[in-house]
Amino acid sequence: MPIIELRSDTMTPPTAAMRQAMAQAEVGDDVFGEDPTVNRLEEMAADRLGKEAALYVASGTMANLVSQLAHCGRGDEIILGSHAHTFFYEQGGSAAVGSLHPRTVVNQPDGKLALEDIEAAIRGDNVHFPRSRLILLENTHNICNGCPLEIKYMQAVGDIARRHRLKIHVDGARFFNAAIALKVAPGDLAAEADSVSFCLSKGLAAPVGSMVCGTQDFINEARRARKLLGGGMRQAGILAAAGIIALNEMVERLAEDHANAKKLAEGLAEIAGLSIDPHQIRTNIVFFELTAEQMTAEQFTQQINAAGVRMLPVGPQKVRAVTHYQVTADDIEQALAVISKVMRR
Ligand SMILES: *Cc1c(COP(=O)(O)O)cnc(C)c1O
Repeated sequence: MPIIELRSDTMTPPTAAMRQAMAQAEVGDDVFGEDPTVNRLEEMAADRLGKEAALYVASGTMANLVSQLAHCGRGDEIILGSHAHTFFYEQGGSAAVGSLHPRTVVNQPDGKLALEDIEAAIRGDNVHFPRSRLILLENTHNICNGCPLEIKYMQAVGDIARRHRLKIHVDGARFFNAAIALKVAPGDLAAEADSVSFCLSKGLAAPVGSMVCGTQDFINEARRARKLLGGGMRQAGILAAAGIIALNEMVERLAEDHANAKKLAEGLAEIAGLSIDPHQIRTNIVFFELTAEQMTAEQFTQQINAAGVRMLPVGPQKVRAVTHYQVTADDIEQALAVISKVMRR
């Protein structure tokens, strides 16, 4: 039985072109800065995002952690969303490892932090307070329906940051999904950020790795933090080779994932017992609720799994589906047929 894998875009195995590039990659010791393939990937990433420099790291979690460590010192405060991946799903690494203080601001349904909430969270100069240092945004916003943050919003946050001398880090695990959905150049979308991280290993389908982009000085600090965390990999060019293919070949096609997610959402909206607003689906992440109380998300995902469709239960009645390059428009139709059948039982 063919499996339709919708749990996550992290499930994507490397493409044939990636495997070939990995097998043939020219390598060296990257801790010495001598891996030509890693160096090329870092130059490409910096160039795409319009930044001076970039750093290849093991994961999105490491990307966000080295960025926070590079921007902040012990006891500094980071303003971030109540539903930020960095707050929810990264083990509180900035506190656990960096002695940094998180200050959450409630996320709006579209993934934004309200500008007045950011302003209100910024500390004055007072011996009682930690120092506000960093605003951390997420683009696209994972938990908030994969919503992209537009350039206009970034400019408004940029104004606040400049006024208060704060830095901005963007957790852009799906940054290229945002740029494609908004039809803007990634460099323009990154312009207001002091640093942006993005994952190669999600929709871009590379097996491993994330990038951090920013000024050369920032990247020098981030590189130190990466070594501290044990992330100094040696012949990492084997992995970085797939990242080069990801940037060259896998970005434009993200539009297909967005179209498939929309199609899935529209189909789910037609099925009795499910609740979703398809208008909220702008990229590749689809959340929906089971409205019939006799079926839990756990039971639902087990039943569709038995018919070859995999989705992720993320709450008692809440399910997540994520489209990616191995999911075709036909797969979406098939998945919808399976779900209709399960819901009619
Ligand atoms: C997946 C994800 C991360 C972390 O990436 P890993 O490579 O899994 O560590 C960070 N932020 C967001 C928004 C994500 O979706």
